[in-house]
Amino acid sequence: MNQTKRIKAEILAVGCAMLDKGLVAGTWGNISSRIPGTELIAVTPSGKGYREITTADVVVVDAAGIIIEGIFKPSSELPLHMAIYRARPDIQAIIHTHSVFASACAVAHKGIPPIIEDLVQLSGGSVDVAAYALPGTDALAQNVVAALGKKNAVLMANHGVVGCGQSLAEGMLACELVEKAAQIFIYANQIGGAQALSDEDIEVMHKFYVEYYSKRQQGREV
Ligand code: 13P
Ligand code: ZN
Repeated sequence: MNQTKRIKAEILAVGCAMLDKGLVAGTWGNISSRIPGTELIAVTPSGKGYREITTADVVVVDAAGIIIEGIFKPSSELPLHMAIYRARPDIQAIIHTHSVFASACAVAHKGIPPIIEDLVQLSGGSVDVAAYALPGTDALAQNVVAALGKKNAVLMANHGVVGCGQSLAEGMLACELVEKAAQIFIYANQIGGAQALSDEDIEVMHKFYVEYYSKRQQGREV
């Protein structure tokens, strides 16, 4: 299977997983990935059911966002995906979800402090809230890039989550860990409040994750 076909198939699998895990309802959310060895991006079509679409329906765009393959409109959040890829050459895949606990934080405009180890390892610290802008706009794309910084996850005010990674699997994991951390944060606030990890410990854990742990997750023994 060529790289494009492989990435498209992975995108379909992630779409179904987002529904199965309750991270999105209906056709909302969206998924994209760079196609290795090219300047192309594969992205979900806008407003289509993840269980209904086939690999042929996944849209391929070039670095300028021009459609190269696919008959449907690309995700309405394509400007956001493209802006992240431009700002972060290290990121290979982006997943946007509307999960419940993370959205509760996003509507309260409360970022998730660095309180729990797994998320801090992957994301590199707190999950901050990007200022509100209408969905699909360049303004939203700019706000998300600014709030994301060098990290791998961000909340979008009154909207949802963006998780990024070195692969679609890692982007999905970022979204799951954000949702879990948001739930923990809200529960901890019922029993006296969450205690943040120190900057030094966060740095050690993020470095360990990037250099060793994420590689073990991919089946490499380091
Ligand atoms: P699309 O179906 O166009 O990807 O939009 C869904 C969404 O979540 C917009 O923010
Ligand atoms: Zn959305």
